[in-house]
Amino acid sequence: MSLKIYNTLTRKKEDFITREKNQVQMYVCGPTVYNFIHIGNARCYIVFDMIKRYFRYLGYKVKCVQNFTDVDDKIINRSKEEGISCEEVSEKYTRAFLEDMENLGVEPAEVYPKATEHIREMQEIIAGLINKGFAYVVDGDVYFEVDKFKGYGKLSGRTKEEMRAGERVEVSERKKNPLDFALWKKAKEGEPWWDSPWGKGRPGWHIECSAMSLKYLGMGFDIHGGGMDLIFPHHENEIAQSEAYLSEEPFVRYWLHNGLLTFREEKMAKSVGNIVLLRDLLKQWHPNALKLFYLSTHYRSPIDFTFEKMVEATKAWERLEITLDNINFILTRGRFEALPEKERTKGLEKAIKRTEDKFKKAMDDDFNTPRALSAIFELAREVNTFIDENQSRLVIEDKKVLKEARDKILNLSGVLGLKLMQPLSILPDLVRKLRGYYLELVGSESEESLNLEEVLDCILSLREEARKEKDWERADQIRRRLKEFGVEIEDTPFGPRWRFPLAK
Ligand SMILES: [Zn+2]
Repeated sequence: MSLKIYNTLTRKKEDFITREKNQVQMYVCGPTVYNFIHIGNARCYIVFDMIKRYFRYLGYKVKCVQNFTDVDDKIINRSKEEGISCEEVSEKYTRAFLEDMENLGVEPAEVYPKATEHIREMQEIIAGLINKGFAYVVDGDVYFEVDKFKGYGKLSGRTKEEMRAGERVEVSERKKNPLDFALWKKAKEGEPWWDSPWGKGRPGWHIECSAMSLKYLGMGFDIHGGGMDLIFPHHENEIAQSEAYLSEEPFVRYWLHNGLLTFREEKMAKSVGNIVLLRDLLKQWHPNALKLFYLSTHYRSPIDFTFEKMVEATKAWERLEITLDNINFILTRGRFEALPEKERTKGLEKAIKRTEDKFKKAMDDDFNTPRALSAIFELAREVNTFIDENQSRLVIEDKKVLKEARDKILNLSGVLGLKLMQPLSILPDLVRKLRGYYLELVGSESEESLNLEEVLDCILSLREEARKEKDWERADQIRRRLKEFGVEIEDTPFGPRWRFPLAK
């Protein structure tokens, strides 16, 4: 089976065939940099990061272009509110966006063009559209005339009447048709402006994405992505501008749109007062949890955010980490006998193979991440059962198959953008307290610079000593104190081990 992708333009799943062999060229609409992004905005970046990673897993080379809209009414308003220049506003929030993406573990785009650095390219297209009769000038403003472009409405599948009823259509006497949209806006007092053949002004929003995608990817590139709220008018207008300008189609081969987020069944909006900023969420929750929350639903479906679901997602992530911990612990502590017992690993070997097949089948079906995830969780369950059944006596074959299972879980989770088995970023304060507790236990004052792992291993061996000497009270007390620090002790056939539970 090969990859099939749902194309918003044709409203069906299509075989994915790239313009150039083994290469995917994609454009994802980026943020308007006037504010920190919220968790609803983050969905788009998480989804297209997963899509990019899957293309790479399939062996494609990927070039992704993502713009920054750094000239816009919202930026102008924000600059007045904060009392800083528009450039300062856009620089501040561009930096914040890149920081957020890094903290989220989203891979950077290959190109990050800024609208203000592509004014010349936009003016070229606007001039071309005027020449071809697709655009008209009204006293310093330039509008695209939608009635001149035959295919207008083909992406959103709406009639002109339906589009007119859309809330984002600005009615103005200057326009021939209310659906006509601004390519160039005459400068108002105190706003940023550039010289142009039509007078001082600035570009409209839609033209920037046409100019930048055509510049970096050329006509007929593979994928254009964004949230469903961008289908109309933004993407509809991008198609009209680009195809009218170049007298060619298609502008884009596959249009992909992610569903939107609600917060407890309500739209996440400033006016409702329920905005959760990504950077605030990531102070309390791990990126893996947010990714699992999103990827547990198909990317085109709407999704409702609740903190209960974040708890669930954290527990799911923890299940994977515990499985990997179990494997690693056995691999380091277990004694593997050199016995020729090949039969018993057959089941798990098959499960590993089956997991990859199921994963690929799910992802090939328009990136069905909920099914891909369930394949990974199924393997985790099989591994844990295998360990339960065999850990009392391990043979050399087990070692190989357990390593394979671990690598498969890590690898496939990574394709979805999850980063497992990362070192814990424990607060330095906690390390200091644990070190203090250890010194208290051994009755020493010396400043030993043990790291987190070392200090916990030392405390565990003190507890083991206490148990050997049948000093149950001391052993118990150590367990209780560690629990206060958030560390759990688990006794296994290979001795005790510690871990930090992820879900609280
Ligand atoms: Zn765009």
